[in-house]
Amino acid sequence: MNAVIPIQQLQSTGCGTPPEVIRERGQREVFCGLTGIIWMHRKIQDAFFLVVGSRTCAHLIQSAAGVMIFAEPRFATAIIDDRDLAGLADANAELDKVVQKLLTRRPDIKLLFLVGSCPSEVIKLDLHRAAGRLDKQFGPNVRILNYSGSGIETTFTQGEDACLNALVPQLPQTQEKSLMVVGCLPDIVEDQFSRLFKEMGIHQVSFFPPRNSRALPAIGSNTQFILAQPFLGDTVRSLESRGASMLSAPFPFGIEGTTAWLLTIANAMGVDQELFEKVVAPKKARAEMALAPLKETLQNKKIFFFPDSQLEIPLARFLNRELGMQLTEVGTPYLHKQILEKELEWMPVDVQLSEGQDVEKQLDRLKLADPDMVVCGLGLANPLESEGFTTKWAIELVFSPIHGYDQAADLAELFARPLRRKAKLQFNTEVLCN
Ligand code: SF4
Repeated sequence: MNAVIPIQQLQSTGCGTPPEVIRERGQREVFCGLTGIIWMHRKIQDAFFLVVGSRTCAHLIQSAAGVMIFAEPRFATAIIDDRDLAGLADANAELDKVVQKLLTRRPDIKLLFLVGSCPSEVIKLDLHRAAGRLDKQFGPNVRILNYSGSGIETTFTQGEDACLNALVPQLPQTQEKSLMVVGCLPDIVEDQFSRLFKEMGIHQVSFFPPRNSRALPAIGSNTQFILAQPFLGDTVRSLESRGASMLSAPFPFGIEGTTAWLLTIANAMGVDQELFEKVVAPKKARAEMALAPLKETLQNKKIFFFPDSQLEIPLARFLNRELGMQLTEVGTPYLHKQILEKELEWMPVDVQLSEGQDVEKQLDRLKLADPDMVVCGLGLANPLESEGFTTKWAIELVFSPIHGYDQAADLAELFARPLRRKAKLQFNTEVLCN
């Protein structure tokens, strides 16, 4: 276990900026980046994700995705077995055979990702070179790229970041003024945002990643992009290196975040303020009505976030400002100040932020804080439930449609449901005991 890095001061950037962050390095309880395949394969509908990994990796994605084996899923694992690990087989030759067989059997695949894992990193299998070799063989009909989903020093949403980062060099060049929404969104949410943009008269908007790998959006120095997910640090750097510039905004969670996110886009695209208000007003009103009853359940409840999805800070902001929840500690695997700039301005000044994890120390702080709800990974949720804490799985927040006005109440409901369930269980136990 590494030494704990002492508490450091976060530079103050405004009146709302929280004053300090605990930064820790130690034992962590997080999923690996392979998990991203579960939502990425649903999004890019002609892509296939071939994990080069162990049986453990295969079990992880198979069980997490919950796909029936006869459903022809668009992911699989090329198993690295004992012979590969012992250096007795030529892993590259084996991989070439697997890819050949796969592409012969599945002509619908137009984009193949070779996804690295802990075992492929341990045996130092050069997947970048393998992808280049196979891309020459099968391109341009099939594009073959690689990224790492390894659990060594990464957290699970970094799988999406690594995947999008691998795609950025493939984006065509343009000098046209355009806007790109970056981050994997469920189709239903993408459609809702597209309708809002159209109503505002914004037509030059693309989404990255696209639903079809043959429709990659073009990019250049006149492209502005806005993040829909806060965990895309490497992708941001790559897009900026292609000349695009990032629009800084809060994330579209809840009414307030969605309005500020849309307003940032509207201002960048020159939308008239009156038209903007006219478009968003009915959606805001509907979302406010849906959110009101959930506030009754969540108001004044204390919540503690373990670092897991990197969504923690935007979600904590929504729960605090729109639902009146009290934030105890808000932990995040990485605190990316450029990406979270606007979110940090909205955090209450007395909130305890933490970056990284030393799980034993954090569990001690959790017990002192004694919250009504804990947001954490699956590995911590069951033990904490058995100790009487009410938990919410962080991963569920990434799998569910939670962006935008129409999902604001659904997002709040994800937090309200465990509290209601606990209240009902307590009531029933009391009845039984009497
Ligand atoms: S990539 Fe590593 S952490 Fe993830 S399932 Fe495979 S072995 Fe486990």
